[in-house]
Parts: sequence; structure tokens; C-alpha cells
Amino acid sequence: MQIYFRTVPIYFWIFTIWCMSKVYQYMFNEDQTIWELIWKKSLKLFGDDEYSLFVNGILATSTIVLVSLMTIYSIFDFTLKPDFIRKYKINPKSNEPPDVKKFMKVLLCASFTGVFLTKPGFMAVYYAFKWRGFPNIHILPNITTVMITCFINDHIYDIANYTVHRTLHHKLLYKHIHKMHHEFISSIAIALIHAHPIEHLFSNIFPIAIVPFVLRCHISTAWIWVMVLLASSIIEHSGYHLPFINSTEFHDFHHVKFDSNYSTLGLMDRIFGTDKAYRNSINAKRDKLLLSFKSTRELYPDEDSKVMKNQ
Ligand SMILES: [Zn+2]
Ligand SMILES: [Zn+2]
Repeated sequence: MQIYFRTVPIYFWIFTIWCMSKVYQYMFNEDQTIWELIWKKSLKLFGDDEYSLFVNGILATSTIVLVSLMTIYSIFDFTLKPDFIRKYKINPKSNEPPDVKKFMKVLLCASFTGVFLTKPGFMAVYYAFKWRGFPNIHILPNITTVMITCFINDHIYDIANYTVHRTLHHKLLYKHIHKMHHEFISSIAIALIHAHPIEHLFSNIFPIAIVPFVLRCHISTAWIWVMVLLASSIIEHSGYHLPFINSTEFHDFHHVKFDSNYSTLGLMDRIFGTDKAYRNSINAKRDKLLLSFKSTRELYPDEDSKVMKNQ
């Protein structure tokens, strides 16, 4: 189903890295995989305790993903280089390059909410998690358990995210809270972190922090899942539909149309029929995992939409 192809590429890359790790273990006659070595080093770095691994570990790994991917996409946006990337822009000529003043303002506000709200949010969930009991941090789950847990986490998150996001679109809340996130009609990567503090707390932190708690998953799995989710969220806000990674058409359409595509996987929108406009658009046709270097606009040109409308 098309909805699953939005996250499958990232899981594919995780599985590929795991396979490479196994090859490394076999070739160099190591007792442990790269993941086991990294986890042992993390226990030394963060401390052999659940608080540091859950709160500081998730914050550190997600900050690395956030800063590195945001930097790459911002370089694409501001330098307009490399040239071959331009054809993958979903809405060409918009935010090319972005407004520096607006970009800096967003960065400043997001850093403020990030510093003062993210850690307390994760600390609150840590104490709930502690009450439930953490799985043994010294025994790592196998790859099958990690993949299945991440898959289920995605669906729990989709329900939580859809509910909060759709509520934020209610007319009483939208103009006071969620309008801020929609200032970027043509989305760029930094739009992900452009959120009102209330939205940051209820839409960004709690659904992310609570999901590993629901399944009582291993902290290492929580790290992987949060990193994958964050990477997917940055990619889907980037404004580029690049080959071999997640399609970004779905959430980009939400920024353009406002009243469609509230979820991440698309499953909840399909159930509640909030993706009708999208399914009839050219963007839905373009919502594919690109397995060649041709852009979606080359594969499905804009003229195509006019032909479709006249049919
Ligand atoms: Zn968004
Ligand atoms: Zn929205």
C-alpha cells in the first residue's frame, strides 16, 4: 500500500546498515556487532543508568539527526547548489533562497522552546516509564524485535499525532497556536521546528516520548525509533522529493492546502476521509518512492494535471 512506502525507505536503510554491521563482524572476527559496540560506548558516555540513557541519550541522538539534516537541506536552500538537486524541489521558485531574517527568527524561537521545553517533557515521561519498569539496558533486542517495535510505534504515533494535529486545526485553536507552523506554505526543513510552545509540547514532544512508554520498548529501540521519526519529519518538511528516500508529497500538500493530510503515515486520513482532495491531485500520483534519478515532475509533468482535470 502506498501509505507504507513513506517510511519503508528509512527502515530499509536501517536494515542495510545492520547487514553491513554483520558483514563487518564476520570479516574481522569480532564478537560483537557495530550496534553492540556503539551501545557499550554509549553506556560509558551517558552513564550506566536509565535516566541518562532515556533523557540525555534521546536528546543527544535526536539533536545530532536534527542539526545534521537541517544543515544539509539549508545548504541546498541557500546556495541553490548542487544544480541537479533543484529539479527535485516540489514547489520550484518558492523559498529559493529562503528569507534570511525569517530563517534566523525561526531558529531563535525554536532554540528557545527546544532548550526550555524538550528536556522537561522527556523528564516527565521518564518518571512515568520508570514507574512501568525499563527493560534491562544491558541486553540488546534483536533486529526483528527492533523493526517490529518501530513499526507498531509508528502506528501508535500516527493515531496520537493525527488527533493532536487535527485538534490544532480547530478554528478556536488554529489562529492562536498552529498558524505559526503554517507560516511556511511552501515548506522548507526548518518549518518542522517552527511551532508554538504549546504545539511543541503536545504535538512534538509528548506523542514522541509516550509511544516507547506504551510498548515499554528497550531504550536503544527508543533511540532508533525517535531518530527515524525525526529524520522522516525533517525530510517530509524539506520541500524536496529526492530519490531512494521517503516521498515528501503528502505533508507538503498539507502545508499548501491546510485542510487535508493531517497524519504522518496517511492511514488515519484514509480512515477519516481527510485525504480526498489529495487523492484526486497530481501530488498523489507523484507520491512514489523514486528508484531512478528522474524527478517526479519529469515523470508526472504539471501538464498532466490539466489533462486529468479535463477528463
Ligand atoms: Zn508541517
Ligand atoms: Zn497543520
